Amino acid sequence: MDRRQFCRTTLAATIAGSFPYLAGCGEKAPVATKADTSIPAVSLDGAEIELEKAAIHELGQALDGPVMLSGHPEYDIARRIWNGMHDKRPALIAKVASAADVSEAISFARDNNLLVAVRGGGHSWPGKSVCEGGLMIDLSGLNKVMVDAYDRRAYCGGGALLNNLDTAALEHGLVTTAGVVSHTGVGGYTLGGGFGRLNRKHGLTIDNLLGAEIVTADGQVRHVSNDEDAELFWAIRGGGGNFGVVTRFEFQLHPFDRNVLSGMIAWPIDQARDVLDFYGGWYQGLSDDLYVGPAMVTMPDGTSVVAMEVVYAGDPAAGEKELAPLRSIGKPLDDGVKVQDYMVMQTQEDAALAHGIRSYAKSGLAKEITPELVDTLVEAFVADPRIAFFTHTAGGAVKQVGELDTAFPHRNAETMLLVASFWENPADDEEWMAKSREWFAAIEPHTGGYYDNIDSDGEGAAGNYGPAYDRLSRIKARYDAGNLFRLNSNVRPAASA
Ligand SMILES: Cc1cc2nc3c(=O)[nH]c(=O)nc-3n(C[C@H](O)[C@H](O)[C@H](O)COP(=O)(O)OP(=O)(O)OC[C@H]3O[C@@H](n4cnc5c(N)ncnc54)[C@H](O)[C@@H]3O)c2cc1C
Repeated sequence: MDRRQFCRTTLAATIAGSFPYLAGCGEKAPVATKADTSIPAVSLDGAEIELEKAAIHELGQALDGPVMLSGHPEYDIARRIWNGMHDKRPALIAKVASAADVSEAISFARDNNLLVAVRGGGHSWPGKSVCEGGLMIDLSGLNKVMVDAYDRRAYCGGGALLNNLDTAALEHGLVTTAGVVSHTGVGGYTLGGGFGRLNRKHGLTIDNLLGAEIVTADGQVRHVSNDEDAELFWAIRGGGGNFGVVTRFEFQLHPFDRNVLSGMIAWPIDQARDVLDFYGGWYQGLSDDLYVGPAMVTMPDGTSVVAMEVVYAGDPAAGEKELAPLRSIGKPLDDGVKVQDYMVMQTQEDAALAHGIRSYAKSGLAKEITPELVDTLVEAFVADPRIAFFTHTAGGAVKQVGELDTAFPHRNAETMLLVASFWENPADDEEWMAKSREWFAAIEPHTGGYYDNIDSDGEGAAGNYGPAYDRLSRIKARYDAGNLFRLNSNVRPAASA
């Protein structure tokens, strides 16, 4: 008898003794109340259900990691995610320690028709990684990253943060594309696509994904790559958490000198039109080594600026030369571009965007920065430290991948445009959500499709998946016909696979 089976059997006996209604034959059991034997929960389709405490205990014994109910000392820490707007209370939280734990947790949810949320790094803007009344599968314990320097590969736990990945790879003089706030989870970030400051040189993070270990809705632990379950591997490169729980990612790494020419140049906001107009005519001719991303923000002291974020992933002397035309535009307030450790840029936003902040974001993908778009950006600007316009520049290697080679189809986009607001007081929620929507509504006509990872509504799946949607929907029907994994930018299973 294996350990899990042994635990189940002995546990069933223990529980039978501890719950009066399950007491042994011949004994007259006292009448039990519902609260003695079960806890309230929420089903997959939102109905109120009851979960037997005995079944929960059994799950707890089968898992190597803890199962937490309300009242557990770590329950409130585990249920919190990055965006403070989403204060939800799962019926139970399984803090898994392995793929086998994930499989048990998934089987439990499926057998009990229970709503499931999967938490990687917890950065979901719309709060999809926590749920009210369901099961939260917390992957934060699966955060180890192992680097094979010889084969230039990283094996990264499904609950690791970008910081874990960057740090482990850089120790070996290696790197892969990773996003710009280091406490973001590798899980949700990668499954949605993965934009970072090296994507012009190395592609999106999914373009560096060589394989993954994934637990599907049937509880099976599978290895996927171009050679194994290739359809499923295609789907997880852009299709989000729709197809299962990824417990390990395998990334291609690239040689990298961490001392890179990088930093920020900022101009007073009244130079925004000149700077952005110049940028719109200049950036498409840049080498793939150079990443330059515009932003329009207001500092805490009230100074509004147009800024350019710069990373040159090559010889700094060549970078200085390529960057020179940008530096000669207008009169910058500050030019902080210099040779410095890559992690300075990768962590510079971490503190300002710490866990618990309230936030709302909208994104859209643009093929070019036209003069009309520049006019809109300048006119729609809101001068307040609680709201900002950012971009993720793409092009380069992102464009070298075919539109449907992965499930992320927006390969022709040169730039992702996004408006995000950040505030602390719950009483301000409506005001700041409305301000983000209003600002983005002005920009939206210049975009086509959006990036679900950076969007607070996250319901318009078709706009995110575009022409990939039908194939995703057929794959969903094959691997998750019951739509167990629905707290994401949801792909509905096709009627017949
Ligand atoms: C401050 C901030 C900065 C960001 N910067 C960038 C950036 O530079 N580039 C970029 O591309 N995006 C960026 N994003 C967006 C980010 O990619 C998404 O928020 C992403 O979903 C975060 O992943 P997570 O694991 O932290 O999220 P979670 O909230 O844990 O999960 C998000 C979704 O992914 C699913 N999921 C998570 N892990 C797994 C897994 N292992 N297996 C299956 N499903 C899983 C969840 O169920 C949920 O549906 C940023 C977001 C924030 C809040």
